[in-house]
Amino acid sequence: MGNNTNEGKKFLDSVYQFFDHAANYSRLDAGILAQIKAPNSVYKVSFPVEIDGKVEVFEGIRVQHSHHKLPSKGGIRFSMQVDEDEVKALAMLMTFKCAVVDVPFGGAKGGVKINPRTSSVKTLEKVTRRYAAELIKKNLIGPGMDVPAPDYGTGSREMAWIADTYQALKYGETNALGCVTGKPVGQGGIRGRAEATGLGIYYGLRETLADTELLAGKGLEGNTMEGKRIIVQGLGNVGYHAAFFCQQDGAKIIGIAEREGGIYNENGIDVQEAFKHRSENGSILNFKDCKNYENSTEMLELECDILLPAALENVIHTGNAENIKAKIVAEGANGPVTREAEQVLLQKGIIIIPDLYLNAGGVTVSYFEWLKNLSNVRFGRMGKRAEEASYRRLVNAIETSSGKNLSMQERALLTQGSDEIGLVRSGLEDTMINAYHEIRDVMVQKNIPDLRTAAFLTAIEKIGVSYESLGIFP
Ligand code: GLU
Repeated sequence: MGNNTNEGKKFLDSVYQFFDHAANYSRLDAGILAQIKAPNSVYKVSFPVEIDGKVEVFEGIRVQHSHHKLPSKGGIRFSMQVDEDEVKALAMLMTFKCAVVDVPFGGAKGGVKINPRTSSVKTLEKVTRRYAAELIKKNLIGPGMDVPAPDYGTGSREMAWIADTYQALKYGETNALGCVTGKPVGQGGIRGRAEATGLGIYYGLRETLADTELLAGKGLEGNTMEGKRIIVQGLGNVGYHAAFFCQQDGAKIIGIAEREGGIYNENGIDVQEAFKHRSENGSILNFKDCKNYENSTEMLELECDILLPAALENVIHTGNAENIKAKIVAEGANGPVTREAEQVLLQKGIIIIPDLYLNAGGVTVSYFEWLKNLSNVRFGRMGKRAEEASYRRLVNAIETSSGKNLSMQERALLTQGSDEIGLVRSGLEDTMINAYHEIRDVMVQKNIPDLRTAAFLTAIEKIGVSYESLGIFP
């Protein structure tokens, strides 16, 4: 991996500062805190790939930030911006993210310097497989070791290639499918993983909006999603699904900012239609009834209730923080607000819902997928007969006591949660609600003024307990 960029360094510095600030509230020993902060291992690799008869060298990295729980867990990013500091910051966030939602993993992250948009599928497959092979060769990934997942620039297709490469090189290994999550459903994936991060963001936002104490005096009436005006940056997997679920619950998506430009309509934009328009035209611009923004970063500064950055880090910085007019900044992306910018936003009374909580839905459902791979069961299949019998008894009891027949819709509501997608969604919803209240309790008990510091502290304390009970080897 070549030189670190300024952006990567800025990101890592911010995460270190967020950590240090929260650690001030902790009762843990300074040595334990230093251990919690430091990345455990960094593996950098260069490898050749033949493309159209020519050899090209690619750079990859995997950072395992914490081994306090195994496996470590975190996505793989494909982008030309990938550098060591960036991946260290992302791996560190994974450690705290997992702790916030009580997912029993350490944190990790990987990356390859490649532009997935200008590379052919063949090239992407060769690069993914070779990168995976480099990690497998060193025993760095595996179901009990370190388990990658999708991140910016990768998706279920790349995860399927990694699982296949792993199985080829570790032929016959038990639970091999658990070596990676975010796989296609037919290849050991789980229903609901693709939309999990976005759905988790929706649950997190919904919980925040219902928090009358936190939002008192912020000018956000109603305590629900209904009518809230949202601007989303990034219509990728995370941004699209987050916007979609918020819209379904009554929010108005008034702006969508993308790489090539942005669109705005104060009456609301149909997210599904806009997504289709972008896929068909290769650009979000010129969508019906919308105003175009050639420079989409300007859109972050527009008036709205909720600003949802869901693309990359450092997009709210000292250069634009003063101009942000949103009442809530909901961190769909990892690290979208720098530490200095956060000071400015908090000063202005803006609520920031931090990444380590808000986008933890992805890794939460990754955990369900991993469990499913390890236990070789399909969720929702166990106890099916018993479940059906109890469902029939329930319907009977309700119909007899109410004296009317239940509609199809009412019956569907009763069965919700019994199939895989229902279980995944209710597990995710529960996780996001519990984590929110845990963070809020810490915030109130310790008199902490912001959600990020409280979220970091919640995570630090949980990890500290692990280290204290594990002891120090040797
Ligand atoms: N890349 C995602 C994240 O940043 C998901 C990680 C995972 O599922 O392991 O949280």
